[in-house]
Amino acid sequence: MRLLLVEDDEMIGRAVLQALRAETYVVDWVRDGNTADTALAVGGHDLMLLDLGLPGRDGMEVLTRLRARRSRLPVLILTARDSVSNRIAGLDAGADDYLPKPFDLDELSARIRALLRRRAGHAQALLEHGDVSLDMTTREVSRAGQPVTLTIREFAVLQALMEHPRAVLTRDQLYQKLYGWGEEVGSNTLEVFIHGLRRKLGASFIVTIRGIGYCLTAATS
Ligand code: CA
Repeated sequence: MRLLLVEDDEMIGRAVLQALRAETYVVDWVRDGNTADTALAVGGHDLMLLDLGLPGRDGMEVLTRLRARRSRLPVLILTARDSVSNRIAGLDAGADDYLPKPFDLDELSARIRALLRRRAGHAQALLEHGDVSLDMTTREVSRAGQPVTLTIREFAVLQALMEHPRAVLTRDQLYQKLYGWGEEVGSNTLEVFIHGLRRKLGASFIVTIRGIGYCLTAATS
């Protein structure tokens, strides 16, 4: 899952970035409204966390322009402008949810999960394929009922594959799920994560499509 964080406050931005990366999200952090616009034009995000008071173009304008382009990207507003009229204006402008500052980081992640679930239309947050299950809410993975411990990046690769169980994901698509902008990417790291997943989930669970990417093995269940 790739999130766009639009926040000009260094301390809040850093805290949110750290908390969300620890929860296996890939986060791109931008600090002003114009850069947010550019990032949205590039696309590829699953959700935006949007501060309203921003240098340049303010958050409400970013949101209005986004909805004018008919984007349905889930948007969670984070702002200190905590008056009822501000909340209503934000929701009317097309925000999906609203969290006043200061907020609790656990509550922030719960709201993000709820929005992502709603978007995916999952009645529940459990992805299952063969004997492997991945719980998006608790971030727990199990194989044949036994818990499996994954690294953050392994989890991100597995989640991307399990969200599209019949698709072949290209290496580029998987790398996009793995790293935010400016994060250092080693060579052959994807192979390392795939190797780790196969060791933990079974050698045949992930199939290599030579020259293209990876997919899950056809499930028997
Ligand atoms: Ca601000």
